[in-house]
Amino acid sequence: MVESGSKCSVNAQAGGDGSSPEIERIDVSTYRIPTDGPESDGTLEWRATTLVLARVMADGKVGLGLGYADRATALLAGDSLAPLLIGGDALSPALHRATMLRSVRNLGRPGIAAMAISTLDNALWDLKARLLGIPLHTLFGAIRAEVPVYGSGGFTSYDTARLERQLADWVEAGIPRVKMKVGRDPRADVERVRAARAAIGDAELFVDANGAYDRKQALEMAACFHDCGVSWFEEPVSSDDLEGLRQLRDRAPSGIEITAGEYGYHPDYFRRLLQAGAVDVMQADATRCGGLSGLFGVAALSEAHHVPLSTHCAPAQHLHAGCALGGIRHLEYFHDHVRIEAMLFDGLGELRDGALHADASRPGNGLVVREADARRYEI
Ligand SMILES: [Mg+2]
Repeated sequence: MVESGSKCSVNAQAGGDGSSPEIERIDVSTYRIPTDGPESDGTLEWRATTLVLARVMADGKVGLGLGYADRATALLAGDSLAPLLIGGDALSPALHRATMLRSVRNLGRPGIAAMAISTLDNALWDLKARLLGIPLHTLFGAIRAEVPVYGSGGFTSYDTARLERQLADWVEAGIPRVKMKVGRDPRADVERVRAARAAIGDAELFVDANGAYDRKQALEMAACFHDCGVSWFEEPVSSDDLEGLRQLRDRAPSGIEITAGEYGYHPDYFRRLLQAGAVDVMQADATRCGGLSGLFGVAALSEAHHVPLSTHCAPAQHLHAGCALGGIRHLEYFHDHVRIEAMLFDGLGELRDGALHADASRPGNGLVVREADARRYEI
């Protein structure tokens, strides 16, 4: 059965030879959660965030996969991809990933198709760990139980007082590195960054322009930001401008790292970024890059180029994989998503000493949907 609309459900009879549980049902739901105030960065403004949540069911267990995407992603995942997985081996995420990738050939892989595959891939890995009765980080071969984070927000829509308070609160909570948005008003950016620096003392300060500057502007801003002790300059120019990123990396002060990668949907994009020498730190988002399967691929590519990895947004979706990735530097503890995940889920990782700690006592990713709370936001 396939239902149309925002909640897409696929159902089938369980069966099989008993050797391996079969995927019995898949629901893909969409929730739109208003922000706690206007939010903007250098190139986008928003008042709400849309969460796509896949539930993949087998043998009485439910795997949860998160995506921050558009409702169209849920429709594609629920209507077109989910039917391909029903009745398949619930312990074989890689098999289903291959099936899904083949199926979107004519749609084009980047964008909505990659996000739909990512959300289901994330759920399939969680389901497998839950069926085996082990934490997801154990399934992946964890090398630690926690991953350092950086506080991320500092939206360009914030006045200076809110900017200073948010960043300082993270530092006071034990997070020694924070990120703010720049690029909305280049004339005001340096003053905002100076204010942030004064508010956080010696903590590391990152800025993210979301591709708002042109090359010359970005180079000028890099020098100004470096004077304020900024050590990370994310998307100083468009992340499609690989040559521009490379030029920034070559010419910006040596103490400031150039980073990008959050819009990577495809292994070829990450390879091109690395081959161009475009980034000091690779960023990747498991809700876009092909799910946790794709994230491990990006990690391997980055390791082969001696470039560290930092995951983008959706901390609850990245924590367990991060525990198994040797080359990971940190997770992005993004205000918008941290807030949503705390509103809709129990079983989140614990923030302690500047790191998110995975709960080893819970199977899978440990998340439990607070259904009554979530239902209020379902669209
Ligand atoms: Mg960014």
